Amino acid sequence: MLKQKSKILFSRAQRHIPGGVNSPVRAFRSVGGEPRFIRSGKGSHVTDVDGRHYIDYLGSWGPLILGHCPAKVQSALRAQLALGTSFGASTENEVVLAEMIAGAIPSIEKVRLVNSGTEATMSAIRLARAFTGRNKIIKFDGCYHGHVDSLLVKAGSGVATLGLPDSAGVQPQECSSTFSIPYNDADTVQRALELNRSEIAAVIVEPVAGSAGVLVPPVGYLERLRAITEKHGILLIFDEVITGFGRLGKPFGWQRLGVVPDLVTTAKGINSGTVPMGAVFARAGLYEAFMQGPQQGIEFAHGYTYSAHPLACAASLATLDVYRDEGLLERVTALEKHWEDALHSLKGVGAVMDVRNIGLMGAVELEPRAGAPGARGFDTHVKTFFEEDVLIRFTGDILAMSPPLIVSTSQIDEIVERLRRVLERIE
Ligand code: PMP
Repeated sequence: MLKQKSKILFSRAQRHIPGGVNSPVRAFRSVGGEPRFIRSGKGSHVTDVDGRHYIDYLGSWGPLILGHCPAKVQSALRAQLALGTSFGASTENEVVLAEMIAGAIPSIEKVRLVNSGTEATMSAIRLARAFTGRNKIIKFDGCYHGHVDSLLVKAGSGVATLGLPDSAGVQPQECSSTFSIPYNDADTVQRALELNRSEIAAVIVEPVAGSAGVLVPPVGYLERLRAITEKHGILLIFDEVITGFGRLGKPFGWQRLGVVPDLVTTAKGINSGTVPMGAVFARAGLYEAFMQGPQQGIEFAHGYTYSAHPLACAASLATLDVYRDEGLLERVTALEKHWEDALHSLKGVGAVMDVRNIGLMGAVELEPRAGAPGARGFDTHVKTFFEEDVLIRFTGDILAMSPPLIVSTSQIDEIVERLRRVLERIE
């Protein structure tokens, strides 16, 4: 057991908490017991420094679509070690990857590679602003778009105007604002667009709100957002950082849900969480708009030192090969019913109030304890880790799961049984 006290503030110190492998966003003060440090992982399992095994049903909230340490991706990474980041020059892999992704997805023309979901959001927002010449962005309460959220919206602001970081050459104080609107409230979006149409660049939404606890959009909701934005010439951005790369049984969530956005942000599953990477996809027409300036001018002056890092590209190409070779999309479709039935068998157990699922995402919502919202969810999460050796995520009183797409039906049954045991004994 690792005993020494870490002097590192927060993020690394938090690695020992349940569900907190590599997570800087967890409360850990009240977690009792000995710290448990994760050392290695394979498939749907991780092992701590004492050799204890855990089922990883969090999958770092989505990226580990092939599970931990997929062999083909590991060997692709080893083969790519000869080159560091290639800022200012493209690699062959980068181009092959961009063509492969864009070519495989109807309606998607161009891809911009970045390093995370947050950077993908930032890039999409800057693209939308530069394309429309407007500044305001509408987002939804409960939709998470990465760390950029804290810059976009002041906590608890509701529908409010807020300062934004410098973007597209505009000073922060001139950059006006972002509106945050309750999820699923298309009427408010419509009003906001009617009142502010000349100032709004884009509406950004998670097609299924992941961090808020797997909120599946009501039938017709995304279609309505599409119709309203199109009517007012405003771009629609889908944040597919969780739903992208197969989690809903199609390459992207919008293909499953049948609504085509203008921009798509993604990350996580793009290379199965092996190397930080993100991407923004743009529909036809956006790219051309940036190609009108003088030959020597930078078309869209925005990028990152590690964008399209050779390791990330190699890992992504290998991941996409595994998708194809192992028929992962078909696998999700085949597993979805089993996953749904297993999760829904928890209805009525202990304090379970609601169960939601789509593709291989799922959430179990607990009734909050009187006067202590989030406490029951937290306790369940801690017990699931320390007593049942299972990693899941909690958001308030909602338990959320995003297993690797390679999961088996017997593993699904096992996790649900372990969760059931905890739910039955939690007060
Ligand atoms: N968008 C969504 C929907 C996410 O869930 C996340 C991260 N969980 C992000 C964006 C941010 O991605 P990253 O942590 O890679 O910056």
